[in-house]
Amino acid sequence: MIGVMPCSGACNVGQMSTKAVVEAIQRRPGEIGFVCALGLPLQIPGIIKKAHENYTGHIAVNGCHVSCATKALESVDADPAASLLVTHVGGIEKNGDLTDESGLPALIDSVLAAVDGLGGREPQARAQE
Ligand code: SF4
Repeated sequence: MIGVMPCSGACNVGQMSTKAVVEAIQRRPGEIGFVCALGLPLQIPGIIKKAHENYTGHIAVNGCHVSCATKALESVDADPAASLLVTHVGGIEKNGDLTDESGLPALIDSVLAAVDGLGGREPQARAQE
């Protein structure tokens, strides 16, 4: 299972990072795990243990260039194999509208592509289920 951490920031791109991870999990049940953005940097033992033991790799979904999700994973030596930047996906601009979902479909596709890149099941294998 691949662990995916959205930064969940208080802006359009931060909120979209969460929405994209939730939708990706809905589409790939059992293949993607939601990694809490706060538990790792706060050094919560159970969440750190889960990050190291439950996932074969991690993906960070950062709303902007500050890259909080990447840094949170790196803070517990769970360096992400891929880091997505929402502002770069489809040229999305950061703003304060928490309901803004422009660019969300492209972001979901990017999360799923990153999961595939880390050895998630191939589309053909999924089709045969
Ligand atoms: S990466 Fe950017 S949008 Fe996300 S929590 Fe950090 S500062 Fe906010």
